[in-house]
Amino acid sequence: MNTNRKPIVAGNWKMNNTVAEALALVAEIKRQAAESKGVEIVLCPPFTALQAVSNAISGTAIGLGAQNMHWEKAGAFTGEVSAAMLRELYCHYVIIGHSERRTLFGETDAAVNRKVKTALASNLHPIVCVGETLQQRQANQTEAVIRTQVLNGLKDIGPDQFTPVIMAYEPIWAIGTGMTATPDQAQAVHKFIRGLLQEMIGERVAQTVRIQYGGSVKPANARELFHQPDIDGGLIGGAALDADAFMAIVNAAL
Ligand code: PEP
Repeated sequence: MNTNRKPIVAGNWKMNNTVAEALALVAEIKRQAAESKGVEIVLCPPFTALQAVSNAISGTAIGLGAQNMHWEKAGAFTGEVSAAMLRELYCHYVIIGHSERRTLFGETDAAVNRKVKTALASNLHPIVCVGETLQQRQANQTEAVIRTQVLNGLKDIGPDQFTPVIMAYEPIWAIGTGMTATPDQAQAVHKFIRGLLQEMIGERVAQTVRIQYGGSVKPANARELFHQPDIDGGLIGGAALDADAFMAIVNAAL
């Protein structure tokens, strides 16, 4: 964590929580969040709960994020939602290129790039996910994989446009598995990502970009991860479904 960058902790609820369940979780997070002012907190419910969560957090400092969106403005794209539809619900963040979207739904770096550009043009903060599989790590391909994802996913986005971008390093082998990257392993990749950003947009802007870590973050391991110099908070899956665990992770970023 670098004090010049405000830590950001986002909860990715994935395909969990009906509206009623979402409201119960938000009520508890809201109650506890009043004491966590130094951290940007973002909740990413499923699309069906965005409106209800938006209403529930209105007037608080908690931000609202979606888990995906389409790059086109409108049209024949069954099952998709647009940036304008998200903005209408006061959604200011959108997760793009999560490994589950890449693996289960065939999302490519080219699609990620189109979505990031649309998000930026629509005043949404894209949370851009990158990460390697266990097999790739074991074959010493981590840096090559991350390089491809970062260079292609963020292609043609200039330094003057880059500030709203949030990066998330999520090793696929650590997502939902209980296996976490060690703080040193995570820091090494975060530093590598910041170096790539430096090549792309220059050092001054690269130093301002927040890079979250994601992958089995829990209250017990969050503090050590978040205190690494290039780790600026986390993208939290499973533990974000429990208000006490999520807020303990938020507080670890303080
Ligand atoms: C995620 O899917 O973004 C994630 C980090 O999940 P978990 O925290 O459950 O590993």
